[in-house]
Amino acid sequence: MTRSAQARIDLSALRHNFQRVRQSAPTSRVLAVIKANGYGHGMVRVAQALDDADAFAVARLDEALTLRNAGVDKPIVLLEGFCAADELTALAQHGLEPVVHNDFQIALLEQTRTVNPISVWLKIDTGMHRLGIAPDNAAAAWSRLQACGTVAKPIRFMTHFANSDLRGDARNAAQIAKFTAALDGQQGERSSANSAAILSLPETHADWVRPGIMLYGVSPFTNGSAQDENLRPVMTLTTQLIAVNQHRKGDAIGYGGEWVCPEDMPVGVAAIGYGDGYPRHARAGTPVLIDGVRVPLIGRVSMDMITLDLRARPDTQIGTPVVLWGEGLPVEEIAECAGTISYQLLCGVTLRVAVSVTES
Ligand SMILES: *Cc1c(COP(=O)(O)O)cnc(C)c1O
Repeated sequence: MTRSAQARIDLSALRHNFQRVRQSAPTSRVLAVIKANGYGHGMVRVAQALDDADAFAVARLDEALTLRNAGVDKPIVLLEGFCAADELTALAQHGLEPVVHNDFQIALLEQTRTVNPISVWLKIDTGMHRLGIAPDNAAAAWSRLQACGTVAKPIRFMTHFANSDLRGDARNAAQIAKFTAALDGQQGERSSANSAAILSLPETHADWVRPGIMLYGVSPFTNGSAQDENLRPVMTLTTQLIAVNQHRKGDAIGYGGEWVCPEDMPVGVAAIGYGDGYPRHARAGTPVLIDGVRVPLIGRVSMDMITLDLRARPDTQIGTPVVLWGEGLPVEEIAECAGTISYQLLCGVTLRVAVSVTES
């Protein structure tokens, strides 16, 4: 019996979503993206559950080492690569595959000897303008890596979309064309598709796809719904009601007193707040689920608590479960109410939230 917030992680939903990736990109290998603690779902847990994945991708070296220490022996790609020579030793030792996205890294590879050669992914900047070699310099970068003894051959190529969450956006076609042109005549495996491109741009699937958010059962599209994509939510965040109070017309609820009771009414208090990762900017009216019924949030989100308008459920008892997002209440909708994206909500669940794992 716990009164704290709980995140239920449904591993069968995770595997179902992985199969959706396979169905969508049947001829590509799958580089499952599990950075940021598996988008908040538990990185090691997710890696162990996805035994059908061909490889995993994380952002940073410490994440990759955590996976290796947990016994994960599949290929692991480091999406941010490396930025110092001493990291190369660890990459070679643990068989990690960094993304190479600038000349500084190429120079480090040229200057460093490692016990084993390192497999690399050469990243081309086709329009995201974050990490990557300019298309005009791609051939020269490839030649230097090809000549470098520290680099394992063959070299693979990748790029990343800036707008694939917007279906039909012309900038996606422009990035695809730049990637093709930059690699004209070049041999080597390619990867460009994140979740949104996997579901909406089949021409981008290539040798490797890189699903992140869709594995966790969330639509990658702006204003999209997971149900439309046949994805099942992996995380359901719940807590309990710890108080039900009768307030009077005119009573102001919570910090700042912005929400004022329009009539005599019951107000529920649930044990979750921004200290658990529930977004402080969730606006009044953001839904929670009580016994499958939507009930609106009122007042400001506190560190440990939220307040709820119980007029539609006046008989609700203390101890009743409250669902914040997940099964029956899409996290996409909560993100919209909080002016953010589902990615941030999932990654933001804090350590104090107890995790339970199910196979529904
Ligand atoms: C995070 C990330 C992905 C996964 O993106 P989703 O939108 O979560 O599918 C793919 N590729 C790169 C380079 C990333 O950083």
